[in-house]
Amino acid sequence: MGCGHAEPVRGLRAAVGCGAAAVALVLGGAGPGSATPLIRVVAGESMNIDTAGVVVTASSTAWRVTAPMRPDNGNASLPTSFRRWWHFQVDGLDAASGSTLAMSITKSGYSDLITPVWSLDGGLTYQRVPGAVPTYSSATSTQSFTVKTPPGVTSIRLAKYYPYTLGMFDRFRASLAGNSFVREETIGASVQGRGIVMHTLTDTTMPDAGKQRVWVHAAVHPSETPASFTAEGLIGWLAGGSDEARTLLGHTIVNVVTMANPDGVALGNYRTTSTSVNLENDWAAPYTSTVPEITALRGTIERFMGTAAAPGSNPISMLLNLHASHGETYPFHFVHQASYPTSGVTAEVRALEDRWVAAYKGRSPFGALRTTDPQSTLAGRSYVESMMLDRYTLSPAWDPVMAITWEGTYQAGPTAGVPNTPDDYRRMGSDMGWAIADYYGVSLAPVTLFAAAGTTVGQAAAGQPLLAGTLPARKTGAGTIVLDAANAITGSTAIQQGTLRLAHPTALVHSTVTPLAGGTLTLATGLRTTVGGLKPMAGGFVDLGSGLITVATGLSRTDLLTSLAAARGAGSWTGTSGIGSSTAAAEIRRGGLRSVGWLEAGDGSVTIAYAAPGDANLDWVVDILDVASIISSGRFNSGRAATWSEGDGNYDGVTDILDIADLVAADLFNAGAYNGATVGFVAVPEPAGPGAGIVLAAAALTAATHLRGRSTRARGPEAGPSAPRRADSAPPGPSRAIRAIAGRHRPSPGNRR
Ligand SMILES: [Zn+2]
Repeated sequence: MGCGHAEPVRGLRAAVGCGAAAVALVLGGAGPGSATPLIRVVAGESMNIDTAGVVVTASSTAWRVTAPMRPDNGNASLPTSFRRWWHFQVDGLDAASGSTLAMSITKSGYSDLITPVWSLDGGLTYQRVPGAVPTYSSATSTQSFTVKTPPGVTSIRLAKYYPYTLGMFDRFRASLAGNSFVREETIGASVQGRGIVMHTLTDTTMPDAGKQRVWVHAAVHPSETPASFTAEGLIGWLAGGSDEARTLLGHTIVNVVTMANPDGVALGNYRTTSTSVNLENDWAAPYTSTVPEITALRGTIERFMGTAAAPGSNPISMLLNLHASHGETYPFHFVHQASYPTSGVTAEVRALEDRWVAAYKGRSPFGALRTTDPQSTLAGRSYVESMMLDRYTLSPAWDPVMAITWEGTYQAGPTAGVPNTPDDYRRMGSDMGWAIADYYGVSLAPVTLFAAAGTTVGQAAAGQPLLAGTLPARKTGAGTIVLDAANAITGSTAIQQGTLRLAHPTALVHSTVTPLAGGTLTLATGLRTTVGGLKPMAGGFVDLGSGLITVATGLSRTDLLTSLAAARGAGSWTGTSGIGSSTAAAEIRRGGLRSVGWLEAGDGSVTIAYAAPGDANLDWVVDILDVASIISSGRFNSGRAATWSEGDGNYDGVTDILDIADLVAADLFNAGAYNGATVGFVAVPEPAGPGAGIVLAAAALTAATHLRGRSTRARGPEAGPSAPRRADSAPPGPSRAIRAIAGRHRPSPGNRR
């Protein structure tokens, strides 16, 4: 046990020096390697070892390094049990063949065996040291293990377990910049002037009224780093934008102080501040401590709670005080005895603690494995939990506050023999997020839309007349669900099985749709609809039929083209993954010319539609506007890459005579809407006068056969069946031929160029 509750000792406040870098005492000459390893401490990097006491000697095979532990701030009056953190740098390693270091960490204040970690990248990342198996001698209070450094490495950082440094926290903070779910605030400054940073997480698009407030702080004890990683994991999950996290943040405001004692972290202290104060003991009633790290936390808590006369609008209803403990097998909570007023807390609060512990165990493979929890009597009423009880829970002005200490571990996890990693600690934090939702009764389960095989069910009949909220929806069952309402759902929509059919222009306008393998998204006949996002590369199929879909955001051109290619195949559009059109495929089978077109609006949105060749603007009419679009792109016969809206109707990447030939062959120019009652390639009404398609065909062929510059009045018969030639063999000047097409054919008074 190492944490506050097991430690009755109040730290001394005598100011001591801040431990600048020092150099190890080295005995002996040439050893096993080229140079003698040098133990040093890098200021500000959470390092602590008694460098002045380090002794390095050489044996025939290894460097023997004896490194005494150093108390926080070098303060010898602190208890032995406070010597539980060491971290230092070793320079001068043998790059040619590696170095072997037989380490003895003396004056150890801990006896449990924790696999040490090293950093080979200057402190950016740490890993458990391969093959380092610590042993402990109680007779000499010494932890011993062997480190073998790899060739090519001249310097390592070595620590008792994973450090969480100021630099790591700064990098994490930077990763949150611009995240709409997070606001960073500095709520105070440490004795040495370091900012105490609080992150506030909520969904600001949802009103704060009625939101529960959760307060979390970590690293009051600076080297209890699993707590900081866990806080980071909680923040990361909440800010990650998942449907579940957004849902929780619609109901809660979560305040997290990841590093409550930044001086202690910078100085490499185990338990205290720069003035050797054990902050955990400094909350004591009447709660008037002037230690700045405490006043920062307490003052912010008071701001949120308000006064009995004017309670805060979102007072704290849950407080998690994150620590880590030595010698423990699994993370656990210090629940309190329900013995108030003798000690402990009220029965009501204890019931809330049990509810929280059960919620956490239910969500965490780490927390679930411990079957019993230590009891805490709170006899001294010293801790933050006591303050929440005394000042708030016992007042009728506030609802009871569930305030509890959580203790992480340094080594053990769900898999026997596999030491924890920082990702495991972060997972413990994201597990907390899920547990917070369960504690408050916020459902994170997705909405299910089920239709049995062979059935087609409207959304109302499926029990979902209106989809809303941030929770995800999932389509299950082999049948078809029809979404025919203007749904407000902002959670994502996954089609796991069967068909989800959109039959309303805004059925999923705020949702990102993902058809998974075995799932299909379809559109009602001729529907124009908008979805919030679309992920067409997850194995399922988007069948546009005769419809059009606009993807508001997030669909990259690369993913779009890959998805279209999957369904298009060699041009038959008979693929069943990606984005295609069964209507186009059917018409092609009957000898017609149809396809799927796409265009980018320039605002991040993409429109994809069943289309005829040449319908560059996807308005289901092939007319002068399309020709104008193709001309204005300047791509015709330019050899430059072209898109559908720039005239590349056959997906060969360029706009050339082949595309024009398809346009002509479809025979739809100025024929009116082709996607309506007469869906199909037959029975297209002919425009008055000479057949537009015929004129166009002639024009295209004119281009293809080098009849440049001649005022050809092409007639139908000349169009003939001869195949158009590749444009690269017939360059009549890039857009000249196509200009000729547009210029000579004036189908209506409104020739809008
Ligand atoms: Zn602690």
